[in-house]
Amino acid sequence: MKMFVAGRWVDKPNHIEVRNPYDDTVIDTVPTADLDDVERALAGAVEGARIMRKVPGYERYKILRRAADLIGQRSEKLGRLISTEEGKTLAAGVFEVSRAHETLELSAEEAKRITGEVLPLDGAPGGTGKLGFTLRVPCGVVVAITPFNFPLNLVCHKVGPALAAGNAVVVKPASDTPLSALALVEILLEAGLPATAITCLTGSGGTIGDALSRDPRVRKISFTGSREVGEHICKAAGLKRVTMELGSNSPIIVMPDADLNKVAEATAATGFANAGQVCISTQRVIALEKIYGDLVDALRPKVEAITFGNPLEEKTKMGPMVREADARRVETWVDEAVSAGARLVTGGNRHGTIYEPTLVADVDSGMRISCQELFGPAVALSSATTIEEAIRAANDSPYGLSAGIFTENIAWAMQFAREVDSGNLHVNWGPQWRADLMPYGGLKESGFGKEGPKYAIAEMTELKTVILHGV
Ligand code: NAP
Repeated sequence: MKMFVAGRWVDKPNHIEVRNPYDDTVIDTVPTADLDDVERALAGAVEGARIMRKVPGYERYKILRRAADLIGQRSEKLGRLISTEEGKTLAAGVFEVSRAHETLELSAEEAKRITGEVLPLDGAPGGTGKLGFTLRVPCGVVVAITPFNFPLNLVCHKVGPALAAGNAVVVKPASDTPLSALALVEILLEAGLPATAITCLTGSGGTIGDALSRDPRVRKISFTGSREVGEHICKAAGLKRVTMELGSNSPIIVMPDADLNKVAEATAATGFANAGQVCISTQRVIALEKIYGDLVDALRPKVEAITFGNPLEEKTKMGPMVREADARRVETWVDEAVSAGARLVTGGNRHGTIYEPTLVADVDSGMRISCQELFGPAVALSSATTIEEAIRAANDSPYGLSAGIFTENIAWAMQFAREVDSGNLHVNWGPQWRADLMPYGGLKESGFGKEGPKYAIAEMTELKTVILHGV
């Protein structure tokens, strides 16, 4: 595919190969953008922002609504594209398309609701005879930098709100999975979006990222990806608005009154989806000592039932990791934990890019499968003697994106909700659950700023205060 810059589809002499992670075949190529393309992209986006500022909310609603409908109509085709470039199962690819449809639909609705407020200035000393109100205006040019793991929906979570708010957007998709983002650009243009309002630059983040992040014409950066790249972007960005959606090593706490069958079901569902390559994937399970052994026994058959293989085959429940290097990393971290005294319950083998669904018990908090973001299909189990100890263990992490607790006791559930440092807290389900309308984002080094169209729009607009004197 070509990339879309300053209102036209552009090719380049050099290309990035997009490979199917399951069999390593090249499925397509995209141009390798360089610094001249960044300059063209930003100049085009400035023009796009000037145009978008004047497009009324109802028109923005109609464009996004049409784009959502087109996504819905192309569900099978887009689902297959996601599965082929990213490696998730076809069913998961089609489900991602349905979420992308919803994200654009929500964004469309929000385009009609961008509003300010009247300020009670007569409540201030000297405020009598004045009328104050706020106006919410677009930021201008928004740069959206996205990761590989949800190549359509996470792009929609940035592009949808940015356009709903009347901005122009420059998307820099992950080099492993740029095709879904380019397909979204085609759809937005077909839906009637002014051509310079959307740009999609394909190229290595390491080469073009700094030029995008530093440029003062960019007024807002919305980034989803790793903690390391996020920190780098924050340093380069300087004085501009930034949203950071970063990684995690999400925990589940299991109390003695929990339904262990339900815990096992939830752990299998939320720890291994997309081969564990979900930012809120269950990585750590901390169970109270009394039920620890029974939980390991309940979990094992559920994890062993996850069939792995070709993601396009219906029987497959888990596909490959995006790159072989990542599967090797998971293998190294699991082997390292087992050598240091942890117990391999099931899995532990690698087949190229596929790493078997794996459970490791008796894990120590200092082991890398516990204290760093694994982003792979393995879950680390450990025990605690009290809820306080379990909460301390859950919080013993630089991250704080999502967490779960299983209990029937409301007091324990509320203690968990108050004391666990996490942006999302689930009672009686695993951390890997999200509705696209909810405010979503992390605490600590999992980032700052919220997504969910309503909340993202607040971060992609500026608030002006207007005061009428002598009225
Ligand atoms: P990544 O390596 O950080 O890459 C993310 C994006 O940043 C890619 O588009 C990448 O481009 C770009 N990039 C790389 N270096 C850059 C630079 N110097 N300046 C600007 N951009 C640069 O992350 P990933 O491997 O794709 O995704 C996995 C990570 O994303 C995990 O840590 C996961 O937890 C996180 N994540 C978080 C959320 C959330 O909502 N909190 C959701 C999904 C994923 P290239 O591909 O060209 O290198």
